[in-house]
Amino acid sequence: MLEKTILLADIRYASRMPHIPAQRTAPTGLLSDTLARPLRDLRISVTDRCNFRCSYCMPSEVFNKDYAFLPQTSLLSFEEITRLTRVFVTHGVEKIRLTGGEPLLRKHLEVLIEMLAKIQTPEGKPLDITLTTNASLLAKKAQSLKDAGLQRVTVSLDALDDATFRRMNDVDFPVADVLRGIEAAQKVGLAPVKINMVVKRGTNDAEILPMARHFRNSGTVLRFIEYMDVGATNGWRMDEVLPSAQVIERINTEFPVTAINPNYTGETAERWRYADGAGEIGVISSVTQAFCSDCNRARLSTEGKLFLCLFASQGHDLRALLRGGFDDDQIAGAVAHIWQKRDDRYSEQRAALPPDTSLQGSGLKRVEMSYIGG
Ligand code: SAM
Ligand code: SF4
Ligand code: SF4
Repeated sequence: MLEKTILLADIRYASRMPHIPAQRTAPTGLLSDTLARPLRDLRISVTDRCNFRCSYCMPSEVFNKDYAFLPQTSLLSFEEITRLTRVFVTHGVEKIRLTGGEPLLRKHLEVLIEMLAKIQTPEGKPLDITLTTNASLLAKKAQSLKDAGLQRVTVSLDALDDATFRRMNDVDFPVADVLRGIEAAQKVGLAPVKINMVVKRGTNDAEILPMARHFRNSGTVLRFIEYMDVGATNGWRMDEVLPSAQVIERINTEFPVTAINPNYTGETAERWRYADGAGEIGVISSVTQAFCSDCNRARLSTEGKLFLCLFASQGHDLRALLRGGFDDDQIAGAVAHIWQKRDDRYSEQRAALPPDTSLQGSGLKRVEMSYIGG
C-alpha cells in the first residue's frame, strides 16, 4: 500500500492565502523554487493501471491480481484535472504530458484532451500537449487523439527483436503492433514521434544498434533512457545501467554522431545528430549525469497528489482541496507555497554517493513510476 501522503495542514495554511504569495520569482516574474527553478512542465498521470508488465516498472510478481490499484472514485475527474491545469498555467506551466500507467486505457481520454486544448497561457498561446504511451492502442486511437488536440506522442519501445520485446513487456505483446501504432501516429501528424527505449545492460543493450538502424531516416527521434531506480519494486542494480556515454559510443562506431544544442532549458534529453543527415537521437542520463539543476517538472498523480520529484516519497493532496470547497485562488496559493519550498534534487544527491547506491532499500517508501507517471 502506498503511504498516506496528505500534507493537509501545510496546504490548508497556504490555501487560506487569497492570492499567490509573491515571494521567490524566476527572472520571468513567475514562480520559482528554492533552487530558482521555474514551474513549466506538468505531467499528469491519468491511470495507475497498465496492460504491460515491464519488469523495470511494474514487475508482474508485485503487480499481480492481488495488487490494490486505485478505485475509480479516487481518480481525478476530467473536470478536476482541467481545473488544476488552469491553476498550474497561471504559475507558468506551458507543457502538459499525459501519462500513467498506460494513459490510453483511461476511457474517453480524448474528451480530456479536448478540454485541455482549450486552455491558453497568460500570453494567449495554446498549451503544448503530449502523451507517453506503450502504443498498444495507438493504431486505433491516433486519429481521434489528433482530432481532440493532441500535438505529439512519445512511444515506449525497448527492442525490435520480437522475443526480447515480448519478454520485456511480460505480456507477450508483439513489436509489430507497436510499430503499427507509430506509423498511425506519424500518418495523422502526431509528429515528430519520439521513441523511448529504456536500456538495461544484459537485457536489451544488444538492441541499441538495430533500433538506431531502424529509426534512422524515419522522422522519429529515438531516445535511450538509462534504467532508473524509481519506485521500490524493480530490484534496480547499478550494474544493469548502461551509461549513455557508452550508448553514444556504440552508435558512433557505425553512424557518426555530433552533439547539438538543447531545444530549451530543462530538456531531459541530450540531443545528438547523425553526421550523414539521417536525423536525431537523444540520451536521457538520469543516473550518470543528473539534470536536477534545470528540473522544472511537477507531477500530478492519478488521485491528485502533487509530487515535486520522480523520486519523492510524499505528495501534496490537491484533491482534498478540490473536493473541500477551496476556490481556484486558494488552490493557486497552495501550489505556490508548495513549489516555493521545493528543494528536491534526488539524482544529483545520489550521484554524490558511491556508484552502486540507490535509496530503494533505505526505508523511504518511494512511489512507483506507474502511479506518479514517467
Ligand atoms: N505506459 C506508458 C509508457 O510506457 O510509455 C507511460 C508511462 S511509463 C511509466 C513512462 C516512461 O517511463 C516510459 O517511457 C518507460 O519506459 C519509462 N520508465 C518506466 N520505468 C523506468 C525505469 N525504471 N527507468 C527508466 N525509465 C522507466
Ligand atoms: Fe506499463 Fe509503461 Fe510501466 Fe511498461 S513502462 S509497465 S507500459 S506503465
Ligand atoms: Fe527532477 Fe527529481 Fe529527476 Fe532531479 S531527480 S531531475 S529533481 S525529477
